[in-house]
Amino acid sequence: MEFNSSIKYLKGVGEKRAAMLAKLGIRTLWDLLTFYPRTYEDWSKIVAIKDAPMNETVCIKAFAGSRCREHMIRKGMTLYKTEVSDGESLIDITFFNNKYAAEKIEVGKEYLFFGKITGKGYYRSMLSPEFEEFTDCGRMRPIYPQTAGLNSRAIEKLVRSAFEAGGKFVDPLPEDIRNRYCLMGVEDALRNIHFPQSEDMLSEARRRLIFEELFLLELGLMRLRTKSRRSTSVPVEKDFTEEFIASLPFELTGAQKRAIAQGVEDMQSSVPMNRLLQGDVGSGKTAVSAALIYNCARNGMQSALMAPTEVLAIQHYKTLTKMFENTDISIGLLTGSTPASEKKKIKAALKSGEIQLAVGTHALIQKDVEFDRLALAVTDEQHRFGVNQRGSLSSKGGNPHTLVMSATPIPRTLALIIYGDLDLSILDEMPKGRQKIETFLVNSELRERAYGYIKKHLCSGMQGYIVCPLVAESDALELTAADELYKNLADGFFKGFKVGLLHGKMKPADKKAVMDSFASGETQLLVSTTVIEVGIDVPNAVIMVIENAERFGLSQLHQLRGRIGRGTEKSTCIMISDAQNEETLERLKILASTTDGFKIADEDLRLRGPGDFFGSRQHGLPEMKIADMMTDGEALRETQAAATELLKKSPALSDEAYAPLREAVNRLFSGGVSMN
Ligand code: ADP
Ligand code: MG
Repeated sequence: MEFNSSIKYLKGVGEKRAAMLAKLGIRTLWDLLTFYPRTYEDWSKIVAIKDAPMNETVCIKAFAGSRCREHMIRKGMTLYKTEVSDGESLIDITFFNNKYAAEKIEVGKEYLFFGKITGKGYYRSMLSPEFEEFTDCGRMRPIYPQTAGLNSRAIEKLVRSAFEAGGKFVDPLPEDIRNRYCLMGVEDALRNIHFPQSEDMLSEARRRLIFEELFLLELGLMRLRTKSRRSTSVPVEKDFTEEFIASLPFELTGAQKRAIAQGVEDMQSSVPMNRLLQGDVGSGKTAVSAALIYNCARNGMQSALMAPTEVLAIQHYKTLTKMFENTDISIGLLTGSTPASEKKKIKAALKSGEIQLAVGTHALIQKDVEFDRLALAVTDEQHRFGVNQRGSLSSKGGNPHTLVMSATPIPRTLALIIYGDLDLSILDEMPKGRQKIETFLVNSELRERAYGYIKKHLCSGMQGYIVCPLVAESDALELTAADELYKNLADGFFKGFKVGLLHGKMKPADKKAVMDSFASGETQLLVSTTVIEVGIDVPNAVIMVIENAERFGLSQLHQLRGRIGRGTEKSTCIMISDAQNEETLERLKILASTTDGFKIADEDLRLRGPGDFFGSRQHGLPEMKIADMMTDGEALRETQAAATELLKKSPALSDEAYAPLREAVNRLFSGGVSMN
């Protein structure tokens, strides 16, 4: 059987199990073989019964000395006990309501029991242990992440049969690299990661698999970069940004001016610009990109601006339309819900060069969107896109210059991997006249007062938000929560005010109508889920109440709060939470104490650990199954060097010997970054 065959063909897997496995991301035999144990049970360290410590999980080797006894404790609760001996001492083995397990133990036979020791005084018992007949010395046994209905032992069995299914192991790592870095072969590594022969073998297996994963990642990313850097771009020679800056209703910050100058200089070159514009929420990234877009247009070239959500794309469209209202720059908006006829018109105008700027969502990167002279591709809030999508906007003919904008501070190690030689502009200065957002943490007893405070602001002509969290994993539930809150408020506390509702499941047209009404000031209060998290800009909104604040991550709360404090009025954010947990409260208090996004991100990282950051896939990189980009720094350096060297020798890995490697890279990037 081939390793890429469906898991359904494996012995012991039917439709039902296949569905459970799919929940764990396992669809093929290979997925199963690379579904690594979370941890191991060590059945190789056998403890004498008399030394077994109370309340700890240990492995003992013992003979069953008596038949199992049954004790009915109460209705529906029966204990099964049997006494075992290791020749020195005795201990009870106890099972609850599990006659089957208890009766499997045969008198006179020797077993390994693995379980927790409990008891009182001198009495000790091992509770519901796992056990197997003793044949040879115990092993390390894998413990897998489980899903309802499929426990670790069941997965272990399946992994065993996957090995037996007889697929042929082809090592993606070339032999010279394996030798050079002393890495074991792929089959050995996989067998030992699941069923370690020893602790040493396990650690060698891990080292090899981590190396492989990071190596593939590096190769894929380097490939992405050389692809975009390989060829020459269209230089945007003249600098017209002064006139644009002068036309703005506000004075740019020093940081904004610096970023614009850097961009202009980059784009004068025929090497494509590859720049990351990093700045906290509200630091004015849009104006920077607008200046560069303006400059392209004045040089007779086109730009594209891609945003992760439709709401945000529409807002950018409006902002830019306003900024460019006294110029002859024309802008097209392309999103999933642009009517087909309109789309057709815009596409034609982009292709002919009639339109100088295309603003949109993913719709922009579809194959049939063509440009006449695309010089600049801007991606906003880029961490929300996958690496592949980011690549595609800049692959729209002519190798445009690229600018990515992000409010997410990224740890340095990670930035290096993702961006490599990307240049960085940082907006470390807030526009003048901004007032600090006052942030309070209160419990739900003060909800009425918080609402009253909102009312007061609405009465004086300001606007506000009430944000409610994702209540459950399911979108449907989220919707009801927002919907109910909205109805209660609109007909209750805020009766007579104009209240709007915004959530992710609304039709784009409805979303747009709601946002329009809020932006125009007609809707006074917006009840929303986190869809407003990214980029929404309504300076007249000065108050925000966040319900169940404990359910949000720190950085997310910071993003949410960034929706207010955008004008010159003082803004207030009230977080409502009844959380008792110390850590949660500490987290929320950080937010109340600072508005510095970088500081908040640091704290977030410190409190939650790197696992969460990298686990949340904010970075758009392919998921790592075993490597940890934060802690495997040594391996990262090693693989970086190895990948650089290999690509020098064989730039497209086109050598036949590298075919398995090429395939593995493509698989990791799901075919998005093709190695040929
Ligand atoms: P972000 O960096 O979060 O994307 P925006 O570009 O949306 O921030 O800008 C936030 C708000 O600040 C907008 O209303 C914008 O018009 C305004 N703004 C940007 N730069 C300045 C400035 N130098 N002075 C005053 N207001 C500014
Ligand atoms: Mg923005």
